[in-house]
Amino acid sequence: MEKQLLKKFQELYGEGGDIRSYFSPGRVNLIGEHTDYNGGHVFPCALTIGTYGVARKREDRKIRFYSENFSRLGVFETSLDDLVYREEANWTNYPKGVIWTFKEKGYVADTGFDMVMYGNIPNGSGLSSSASVELLMGVILVDLFGFEGLSMIDLALYGQYAENKFNGMNCGIMDQFAIAMGKENHAIFLDTGNLHYEYAPIQMDGAKIVIAASNKKRKLTDSKYNERRAECEEALADIQKHENIQALGELTEEKFEEVKAFIANPICRKRAKHAVYENQRTIQAVKALKENDLETFGKLMNQSHISLRDDYEVTGKELDTLVEAAWKQDGVIGSRMTGAGFGGCTVSIVKEDKIDSFIQNVGEIYEKEIGYAADFYVVEIGDGSRRIQ
Ligand code: ADP
Ligand code: MG
Repeated sequence: MEKQLLKKFQELYGEGGDIRSYFSPGRVNLIGEHTDYNGGHVFPCALTIGTYGVARKREDRKIRFYSENFSRLGVFETSLDDLVYREEANWTNYPKGVIWTFKEKGYVADTGFDMVMYGNIPNGSGLSSSASVELLMGVILVDLFGFEGLSMIDLALYGQYAENKFNGMNCGIMDQFAIAMGKENHAIFLDTGNLHYEYAPIQMDGAKIVIAASNKKRKLTDSKYNERRAECEEALADIQKHENIQALGELTEEKFEEVKAFIANPICRKRAKHAVYENQRTIQAVKALKENDLETFGKLMNQSHISLRDDYEVTGKELDTLVEAAWKQDGVIGSRMTGAGFGGCTVSIVKEDKIDSFIQNVGEIYEKEIGYAADFYVVEIGDGSRRIQ
């Protein structure tokens, strides 16, 4: 992969100089959905699929971007003096946002650079290709310009800042954190309230993670996502009139049952219920995993989906079809939607010898019900964003 990309780089920008290669993973969240902006826990892992980048510093202030995934758009040219969001800048608003963020935080690149990238994660399907690109840009900037004193967590925060403030997507910290901090064969148990985290080994003797991409055209994802955030904020504000809490993630199930009547709007009450129960499920799921109780882990994944379907209402027909079909298959330990929802992906844990029949059967049911095909990926858990050459 890196070799082909290097060739493309030299073809577009010429040979010579100090050309460097980087990789930034995609991520999948195993459990803990829509908890990251509620001060709750999440349990994501980085993948071995992701985004590759090749870059070289320039002597002037020009920046050139090219993505093999958007080859029809050709090379984009901009400069250090034009770090503003532009519709026509298309995908390059993601890396540009990161350069802008670095500048905001006092890490100012003194020259421009040329770069090419290629991602083997599907775009816009919930494996967080945007955060992968942001962290790719982050590690490139640190490495090319020798910025000192920045940890991988800082880079995750900068990626989130860029996505929030430059690209207008109000995402929580989970995606960037998982991608920056990924570790082979481990998932990250992260408390988004205080960024305390712990690596948990994922040993699933004889089972693998299978991702199914619904391929649903996304329309409302961003607006619905922001709507859910607002509903949770409203629920929190109602509770705060009576209780001294900072986030829904602080509540246990029992405490929630005690205070839920304070939430005036029944829709907001349902949303808050999901946020609270999902957080507790995530804590229990990691505990089960540590005790080698994969079965309980799987059951909690299934409950997570039901809560996202019935209380949070972010699944939709496509994700429900995939998950409900998965539940009926032999060798499935657990299955749920993952990511923001509405479209995007599901994540299932499937016994290795049943993966072929799983893909075959779930694929058939999906296509019959929905009218187009889903894509399946059997994934491995890999390391975080880094320079590779
Ligand atoms: P997700 O993060 O779930 O994959 P988003 O809509 O947040 O979906 O991000 C997808 C966008 O990120 C793409 O439309 C594109 O602008 C940018 N992007 C992701 N991967 C690449 C890539 N390999 N090359 C260029 N842009 C990319
Ligand atoms: Mg994204």
